[in-house]
Amino acid sequence: MGLEVKPLPAPFAAELSVTRLPAFEDNYLWLVHGLGEHSRRVAAVDPGDADVIREGLRAGGLELAAILVTHHHGDHVGGVAALAHEFGVPVYGPAGEDIPARTVALREGDEVALARLGLHFRILDVPGHTAGHIAYAGHSALFCGDTLFSGGCGRLFEGTPAQMLASLDKLAKLPPETRVYCAHEYTASNLRFARSVEPENAALAAYATEVANMRSRGVATVPTSIGLELRVNPFLRTRLDEVRRAAAAHAGREPHGDADAFGIVREWKNGFRG
Ligand code: ZN
Ligand code: FE
Repeated sequence: MGLEVKPLPAPFAAELSVTRLPAFEDNYLWLVHGLGEHSRRVAAVDPGDADVIREGLRAGGLELAAILVTHHHGDHVGGVAALAHEFGVPVYGPAGEDIPARTVALREGDEVALARLGLHFRILDVPGHTAGHIAYAGHSALFCGDTLFSGGCGRLFEGTPAQMLASLDKLAKLPPETRVYCAHEYTASNLRFARSVEPENAALAAYATEVANMRSRGVATVPTSIGLELRVNPFLRTRLDEVRRAAAAHAGREPHGDADAFGIVREWKNGFRG
């Protein structure tokens, strides 16, 4: 088992090109390139730091054409107002949250057509980490902010376990080859927790070894893919017997249904020191 995702099917042959910009301690800001002749134009996803974006644009000889925001936290919106003002670009963001300089308010089912980039995304409501959190899906890619991480998921700051479980269920139904561009490099510590939940999961053990190797060389572990996460991420696996049993053992009681089992695993991770 490796990190490589399968070749994309024909309709997605024009694979999305995405530039990764590390920021702060462990954030990734993403520049999504336009298709074809638009490849030097980019949309910035969750530009928490305007300077990092400016430097990325300069280094790549790129032009900013749009800003896409997933949720209102500072490490995701910190650079939005300055960049929107400086480049005069539209700011897309969740309808249910206060987003600086937002020009287009989005909710579940909305379509975002970025004509200047030749890109098209579908909006998914994914509450849990924050109440109005959205994700952008399209071109066999997913920009999910702090909802799904490799080996983990966002903390429940404004949502319930039932909401986050429903949000993750939605993401889990995307095609397995979908590349997942999450906003943080949390993979290694997520996997230390995952392995205590599922010590018998061979795919998880192999992935943890691979991630340790990558991180020791300073290599980024994201994007990940939906297919990989379904095999290794305990938060996408809370209905499986193995995870259910671990949750019950940790809580000292049987979970009352799916959301409760998910909530137990999420709480367990909050207190986990691995
Ligand atoms: Zn956040
Ligand atoms: Fe964040």
